Amino acid sequence: MRKNVIAGNWKMNKTISEAKEFIEATKAKIPSSDKAEAIVCAPALYLTELVKLTEGTDLKIAAQTMHYEESGAFTGEISPTALKSIGVEYAVIGHSERREYYNETDESVNKKTHAALQHGITPIVCIGETLEEREADKTNEVVGGQVEKALEGLSAEQVSTVILAYEPVWAIGTGKTATAQQANEVCTFIRNVVKEKVSAEAADAVRIQYGGSVKPANVDELLSESDIDGALVGGASLEADSFLALVEAGA
Ligand code: PEP
Repeated sequence: MRKNVIAGNWKMNKTISEAKEFIEATKAKIPSSDKAEAIVCAPALYLTELVKLTEGTDLKIAAQTMHYEESGAFTGEISPTALKSIGVEYAVIGHSERREYYNETDESVNKKTHAALQHGITPIVCIGETLEEREADKTNEVVGGQVEKALEGLSAEQVSTVILAYEPVWAIGTGKTATAQQANEVCTFIRNVVKEKVSAEAADAVRIQYGGSVKPANVDELLSESDIDGALVGGASLEADSFLALVEAGA
C-alpha cells in the first residue's frame, strides 16, 4: 500500500508571521504520518524557523527548489547540504515554474534528484505537459521523456523513495483541473514507464501525486483513482482550513 502525500506549495507567498500562524493552526491537527504525509513547501527564508516549529509533529517542511552542488560559487542558491543541516526532509525539483522562468532542464532535474537522494532528502520531482503539447497528442512522449531523464542513473531502490508529481502545466493556477480520469491515465502511464525503465518493484512503490488546481471540492475524486497517490497543491494550500481538508482527504 502506498501512502498518500499531500504537499502544499506556497510558492512566493506569505510573510514570516503569516507562515508561523499557518503552522501553529495546522501542526497539531495533522493525522498521524502512517496514514498520509503532510508537507508544506515554504519559501527558503522561512525553512529554518518552520522546521523548528514543526519538530515532533506530523507536518513536514520542504524546500521549493535546491542546487545540485554541495557548496561553491553559486550566488543565491541553496545546497542540499545546507537544507539537510537545518533538518529539511523534502525538496520540490523541476516545478514547471522553475522550468519556465529559471532555466530548469531535464538535466538539472536529474542532477538535483541524485543530489537530494545522496543527502537523504526526498525529491518531489515535477513533470507535466503544456496545453500545446497535449493538443498535439504529445502528452505521453513529453511526460515519459521527463520521467526517464529525471530518474536516469538512479538505482531501483532509490527510485522507490522518489515522489513524482504529475502536473499538467495547463492546469496549474488556472482553475482548470484535469478530470480524475485524465490525471489517472497519465499517472498510470508514468508508473508503466518506471516499470519498463527501472523495475516492477520500483513502479509499485513510487508515489505519484497529481497537481493542478486541486482543492477540497475535487481532491476525493482524484485520490480515489488507482495510480494517484496524493496531491501537490498551490492556491488551495494557502489557507489553513483548506490545507487541513486536503490532508484529511489523503489520510
Ligand atoms: C502547484 O503549485 O504546483 C500547483 C499545482 O498550483 P495550483 O494548485 O494553484 O494549480
